[in-house]
Amino acid sequence: MDKIFEEEIDVFALTKEEARKYYDNLYNKIKNEGKDIVDYQEQKAMSTGILCPDCNSSHVIKNGLQNGVQNYMCKNCRRQFRVTTGTFMYGIHHRDKMLEYIKCMSAGMTLRECARNVGICLQTSFFWRHRILSALQSFEDNVNFFGIVELEELLMNYSEKGKKKRDKKEVKKLKKKKPTKVAVLAATDRSGNILFKKLEDDRVQADHISDFLKSRISKDSVVCGSDKKAFKTVNAEHIKHKEITDKNKMKQGIYGVSTVHKKITAFVGWIYYKFRGVATKYLTNYIMWFVVRGKYLADKIIEDTGRLLNLAASDRRAWERYSDLMSKTYLFYNI
Ligand SMILES: [Zn+2]
Repeated sequence: MDKIFEEEIDVFALTKEEARKYYDNLYNKIKNEGKDIVDYQEQKAMSTGILCPDCNSSHVIKNGLQNGVQNYMCKNCRRQFRVTTGTFMYGIHHRDKMLEYIKCMSAGMTLRECARNVGICLQTSFFWRHRILSALQSFEDNVNFFGIVELEELLMNYSEKGKKKRDKKEVKKLKKKKPTKVAVLAATDRSGNILFKKLEDDRVQADHISDFLKSRISKDSVVCGSDKKAFKTVNAEHIKHKEITDKNKMKQGIYGVSTVHKKITAFVGWIYYKFRGVATKYLTNYIMWFVVRGKYLADKIIEDTGRLLNLAASDRRAWERYSDLMSKTYLFYNI
């Protein structure tokens, strides 16, 4: 394919901020040239150097074309791959429609609207949404907190929305065992960093908090929690200073949890009004969509499409995560 910029080496010399800007705009360039999502990925891979998806080695050689697509082989571990291997677009049909789909998704369209606009069926629209959202999970590793960190427990209703009907026996068995709540640990600081984490439990425990904060908070952070037991009892070496706020103290002083409460209200509203609730199985995907929207996107369709695409295309574990999610049955915890 034609090169989009004259000298590829130019990209290596960009600062982090410039590189981000470059990739944010790459969507538009690719679209204007009538190219598709795989061309985009190729361009992205070329400009950062092709790495093996298994061992991350750069000792990679071209290994012939298959159905017109370039294959590569890793000289280190012998793995054969393409630039799309492991990414959310791996093995996709209608690859010419994916760029437009991401734009529709950025614009906040429903599954049905996305399907109609792009010209795919509703089922494919659903699968594509989750392919893309599965690719946002790695964004979690980039979230760190500074200064005053607010924590709160959010309990969501357990849901199997969209699940086809089971036989009576199964329903009876499930009713007995089904948990009614799924716990989410919500955290934000005062500089706009935010992360929610769905837990494999029906309430937040002290260990969850400790694990969650480990390597995410700076040394001089102050952790604020409500007066729930988990927040009171959590005590870890990495938490230097802790403030517990009860209902009476909530509005006083700088230590409080009102910022995280606002985020929780926004999240719950988004889930129940926009999507009319989501199945618990997909909750983590929607959480990361919310986090990325709040932290990374600007509410401008073209820019956001570029960013969403750049972020999603960088994840080479997306396909694995997506296929695991799709193969999971609706049995609680570990869902
Ligand atoms: Zn390798």
